[in-house]
Amino acid sequence: MSVGAKVTTDLAIIGAGPAGALLAILAARRGQSVALYERRGDPRSTTPEAGRSINLALAARGMRALDAVRVLPQVQPLLVRMPGRQLHLADGGEAFNAYGLPGETNYSISRVDLTRCLVEAAGHEPRVALHFRQRCSGLADSGAALMVDEDSGREFEVQATRIVGADGAGSALRKALAQQGHASASNELLDHDYRELSIPAVNGSSALAVREALHIWPRRGHMLIALPNADFSFTATLFLPRTGPVSFASLEPPAAARAFFAREFPDALALMPDFGREFAVHRQGILGTVRCTPWNLDERVLLIGDAAHAIVPFHGQGMNCALEDCLLLDALLADGAPAPFARFNATRRADTDAIAAMSLENYGEMRDEVLDPVFQRQQALSLELERRHPGRFIPRYSMVMFHPEIAYSVALARGNIQQQILDELTRDAEPDLPRADRLIDARLPALP
Ligand code: FAD
Repeated sequence: MSVGAKVTTDLAIIGAGPAGALLAILAARRGQSVALYERRGDPRSTTPEAGRSINLALAARGMRALDAVRVLPQVQPLLVRMPGRQLHLADGGEAFNAYGLPGETNYSISRVDLTRCLVEAAGHEPRVALHFRQRCSGLADSGAALMVDEDSGREFEVQATRIVGADGAGSALRKALAQQGHASASNELLDHDYRELSIPAVNGSSALAVREALHIWPRRGHMLIALPNADFSFTATLFLPRTGPVSFASLEPPAAARAFFAREFPDALALMPDFGREFAVHRQGILGTVRCTPWNLDERVLLIGDAAHAIVPFHGQGMNCALEDCLLLDALLADGAPAPFARFNATRRADTDAIAAMSLENYGEMRDEVLDPVFQRQQALSLELERRHPGRFIPRYSMVMFHPEIAYSVALARGNIQQQILDELTRDAEPDLPRADRLIDARLPALP
């Protein structure tokens, strides 16, 4: 075991995912020297692992962050609009459910393409040094990051004025902070897992009639979803309990998985020519909520993105939140006030706790409540109330996805007040709109 030369730099970032790559660009443009370490190969020249969350919903918070580093022009041609949900009902019927007001939309983007765009932009920054296939294995007592070169096995230390762990939900830095007693950390696993499958394009066109939507096959205890890709294919994801009568464990015999799809999602199965192989080969992913307190070790080490606060994917916000982290941290680093890491830890937590809670809640909404007539009435009424009270009554989903100026914690708190108002109004067959106006005036403060 040899310990190689020490490296010194202003900011060392572990993990070149969306958060690490974006933070590298922001810091470099502020004049910092940045070293970015990634355990995988260079995304500009390697092919991705199959079956690992292929596409993601990009919403306004992520768009704002990409815009801030002027990467949006490279990303825009790769986006597919998703202005609503296309529901595939058990009886074979379909229904489109707009997410917000006309013009409000989320976008589907390939995870690999987005990361490549950000790493390319980081690579163009003269102050950023990129290091691939270099894995962080822990933290030395001195505060240096312990690293391993994945090709040669050589071990070395990275010393920097500041180290940021952007190394994802399984963060080695978080584990090191916890093991050394600097933080208390947990990963609360959901008892549902996921597996990805593909719906290829047919003759260069979308196999699903509606291309621009997030497709959901809600089946109460579980669901299948599909997001569109730029090449007219879709990536579908099955979310299902890990064990139990209807579970991934019960689908282990290959014939069982096909029979389950034929019963639950026959229209989707018909569009999956490679179903048998993909279901057998694609990795079964786990989902969880990471909690860690604090995220910082003095002003030397800080965790951001999934490394600090990974969430379940049902609000489509994990990456959006990670990108927003970078903007907030950059603003704290730039303002020159003392203790930016401690301030990030103190000020960001209420928002990441809020989006963690809303993401867990949203699983029930996607797989179950979308089928409920009361939910559907309340959703339509919310949009009507938003038209009557623009900038004041904004559906919670819209605050999270389309309004980056509204913090997650504010969206959660206002969403609770709005839900009480909706519950009261939908007790009657027809909502009393003048009463709605009075309730909103009395209970929902104007947004600052
Ligand atoms: P990551 O993307 O995990 O990047 C971490 C990087 O660090 C990786 O490149 C990794 O290789 C590297 N790394 C890891 N360990 C080490 C180490 N020891 N040393 C060096 N490098 C290391 N979010 C959304 O906003 N919208 C969605 O629709 C959405 N859908 C999702 C669907 C699924 C099924 C899942 C699982 C997640 C989804 N997410 C979504 C969440 C999103 O993927 C994450 O929140 C986002 O990728 C977090 O970015 P990050 O940069 O913090 O971490």
